[in-house]
Amino acid sequence: MIAISTNRTEYRNDIAEEIRLFIGLSEIVLLEEIDPNEAELIFDLQLVRCEDRYQVFGKAGGLEIIDSFVLPANASALVIKKLEKRAIKLACYRMLKKLFPDVATPWGSLTGIRPTKLYREMTKEGGENFARSLFQNTFDVSKEKTDLAARICAVQEPYIASVQSNDIDIYVGIPFCKTKCLYCSFPSEVLGKNDRLTVYLEALKRDISAGAQLIKENDLRVRSFYMGGGTPTVLSAQQMDDLLSWYLLQYGSFGMEATVEAGRPDTIDREKLSLFKKFGIHRISINPQTMNDETLHRVGRTHTAEDVRRVFELAREIGFSSINMDLIAGLPGETPDDMKRSCDAIANLQPDNLTVHSLAIKRSSLLKKQIDEYPLASAEQAEQMTAIGAQCAEHLGMSPYYMYRQKYMSGNLENVGYALTGKECVYNIDMMEETASILSHGAGTMTKRVFGGENRIERLPSPKDVPTYLEKLNRLIEDKQHFFAKSFTK
Ligand code: SF4
Repeated sequence: MIAISTNRTEYRNDIAEEIRLFIGLSEIVLLEEIDPNEAELIFDLQLVRCEDRYQVFGKAGGLEIIDSFVLPANASALVIKKLEKRAIKLACYRMLKKLFPDVATPWGSLTGIRPTKLYREMTKEGGENFARSLFQNTFDVSKEKTDLAARICAVQEPYIASVQSNDIDIYVGIPFCKTKCLYCSFPSEVLGKNDRLTVYLEALKRDISAGAQLIKENDLRVRSFYMGGGTPTVLSAQQMDDLLSWYLLQYGSFGMEATVEAGRPDTIDREKLSLFKKFGIHRISINPQTMNDETLHRVGRTHTAEDVRRVFELAREIGFSSINMDLIAGLPGETPDDMKRSCDAIANLQPDNLTVHSLAIKRSSLLKKQIDEYPLASAEQAEQMTAIGAQCAEHLGMSPYYMYRQKYMSGNLENVGYALTGKECVYNIDMMEETASILSHGAGTMTKRVFGGENRIERLPSPKDVPTYLEKLNRLIEDKQHFFAKSFTK
């Protein structure tokens, strides 16, 4: 158990995130919550004001450091908080780096913020050189990762510039799956005898109608539509037809882009794909995660690489010209050679988007519970695998266009979405960069309101699990109405 002792407990989560970069799955608590003898390591971080300067005194594992910083004159409360948080995190990071010099930290001390979002903000504040210098010299981000952030920001620029003040993206969530993947922490329900899919779809339709009403009342404009999961294609063709018809009846439009994350090939068939085409769905995802049958079986996915090929070719035959495929680098038992084989198989299919994830060991996943049973890639191998994924995307003529990081990722790496020019997903950019509001429908989803002019974002989560969503839907609908009721200015 790792303990934190600090006079600024409001930053305990930020300190814990730094510690997790180095000591992934340890339990981290405040020292006052435990008997100090139970702590394997104590991080003591005190933030003290001395006249016009601030000092951070840090102690851990026999190390002691003192950092100083000055706040700009007339700094707002928001700026003070930001700089205090940064100073305390950096002091903690510096100690961790000395205590665990072998841990790879390609993104340096950055946690809890999307690197591209930060890079864009810093570029706006002081220009590109300022952003680069801050990334590499202050946050200790590697040159390669700084270049990646810069490249992605450049690709995103026209999409972000096109967001209008009353634009909003619509998300519809289907939290049901055919089986549970070993690495998954999303609270989706596995379909079975007593599943709640039918009653969920009825509730979802109510949620959608109320959302469409809200859009009209607040004079908002639908920018894009994204149906994700779970696995949306667990719906039968009839259920999907019914849901998409209902959506269009209520909203009248998908906006400039409509995506359905079809996901697992064992739930996709000609009838469903033709239906998507009929409704004008532009983008679909067919996600292999790996093209190695042994691994697919190991992680609990009931399809083969051949199923992926068959469904992909079917989607092309039906006329889909924007298909994404997801791969995960570092799945249990996989090596860089397996990743190379998967990438070669994907390259033969020539998708329009490729998303390369790094395996994250989530606390509530089955993988975390059974971690000792599976051989996992080292940080070095994980890095090699993501590099193989990046080379595959480059070889296919794609550029990176969005990225995000999660906790507990192998090698402290990242997930990157690559796309052919013009085939970037608007919804993914809006969602990751938080440049447009999102109205979400369904369990386990997040509604966001972006107040662009104020650089402020408010979030309204829906209940994570289906039973609570069904129970609290009336309240959720009311909350969403209030959430968007104030005049909508960006
Ligand atoms: S298909 Fe996706 S949401 Fe469903 S269990 Fe697997 S990883 Fe989780």
